[in-house]
Amino acid sequence: VKLQLPLLHPADLLIHNALVLTLEPGAAPIPHGYVAVLGGKILAVEELAPGQPLPPAKEYLDAAGALVMPGLVNTHCHAPMVWFRGLADDLALNEWLTRVIFPAEAGWLTPQRAYWGALLAAAELILGGVTCVADGYFYEAEVRRALAEAGLRAVTAQGVVDFPAPGVPDSTHNLKIAADFMDSGADLSPGLISSTLFCHSPYTCSPKTLENTKGLTRDRGLPFFIHLAETREEVAAVQEKTGLNPVRYLDRLGLLDEGTVAVHAVWLEPEDIHLLADRGVRVSHCPHSNCKLASGMAPVPELLAAGVTVGLGTDGAASNNRLDLWAEMALAARLPKVRRGDPTLLPAAQTVALATREGAQVLGLGRITGTLAPGKAADLIILKMHQPHLTPLYDPYSHLVYAAGAADVAHVLVAGRWLLKDRQLLTLDWPSLAAVAQAQAGSLTAFFRGLASR
Ligand SMILES: [Zn+2]
Repeated sequence: VKLQLPLLHPADLLIHNALVLTLEPGAAPIPHGYVAVLGGKILAVEELAPGQPLPPAKEYLDAAGALVMPGLVNTHCHAPMVWFRGLADDLALNEWLTRVIFPAEAGWLTPQRAYWGALLAAAELILGGVTCVADGYFYEAEVRRALAEAGLRAVTAQGVVDFPAPGVPDSTHNLKIAADFMDSGADLSPGLISSTLFCHSPYTCSPKTLENTKGLTRDRGLPFFIHLAETREEVAAVQEKTGLNPVRYLDRLGLLDEGTVAVHAVWLEPEDIHLLADRGVRVSHCPHSNCKLASGMAPVPELLAAGVTVGLGTDGAASNNRLDLWAEMALAARLPKVRRGDPTLLPAAQTVALATREGAQVLGLGRITGTLAPGKAADLIILKMHQPHLTPLYDPYSHLVYAAGAADVAHVLVAGRWLLKDRQLLTLDWPSLAAVAQAQAGSLTAFFRGLASR
């Protein structure tokens, strides 16, 4: 029997009576646990047998019938792309990009719309239990402002390409704009938001742009994001231009190291997997986007076996179409089973780790978030488990991956602040967001009507 040690200070918040999953490596579920929070950080995660007195706290949350776990970490998102969700589906990637996405980004998207879109995305992310998101897009300063207002933890990354882009009409200025982005925003949610860069891909950025962008992020010790080996077409194009496949090409440029996050990493040779492992590159796996765009299936068990750190991402809402990590977990766990004909691959507990602890590692935030442990940020979610589709409960990890969903998230806490309580958004005003979204959707359809009539 474990002795109950009194907490030295009264906690700000005590969540008790809960089934607690800490996601610390090797830790067993705590059936009657509590989590004490002080100053935005976790003070204690302990078992408390029924009948024992509760440690002192200013606020108590009785989580009977609920599960407490670390918040989910979305390692790849393009928040403002919620505007393009459901606008054009079931098209070939190239046609989708050139007929729909690029014209809308060039002719319709504005800083204000990027901001509103990011607020809308933030609402969806919070309702789905995401506490930390890595976002990469244009007008990223506006995205950053929105995510800060929402109270999320975020790694925001200004997009870099070598052709005109929203907010970057002359691409010769792309690095100047990128550096300015990194040097700004420190006043927004200190400690919660970081500002870095995202090169779109090896085929849309020149070698110089790739090297210089990576240099800016390396100087500041921040992650560098890039879509890598997403499609077979990309591999062929890079091979034709450089004589190397995308992974080898980036390695020749000196871009592969522990600060690089390779997004997608679908088309990898066995040697590429070992190279990524040797260099310490982290991978963001986005299974829904890869399926919907028919890009392929990333070799996740092979990457994990080689020692690569892998997290999960949704990608943008136009290619998913949800910003829902529960859906990503469900698909991530199933895809390797189908691909290799082996149902033992990517078991549930490991899949939950990818969506939490490992995702935090991918973003370089492993010491701050991703598990529930004293000293770490109080970034956690509480799921309502006392429901028909989650009853009976034998193995919580199994339910989280194979049976639970975003709608089961009842409360969300980031750095000790409630963003969601009883499924009510506390930092965002949904009715006014919904009204903005309706009006802007009308303007986007009018924009496309105008294009068609030209
Ligand atoms: Zn993407």
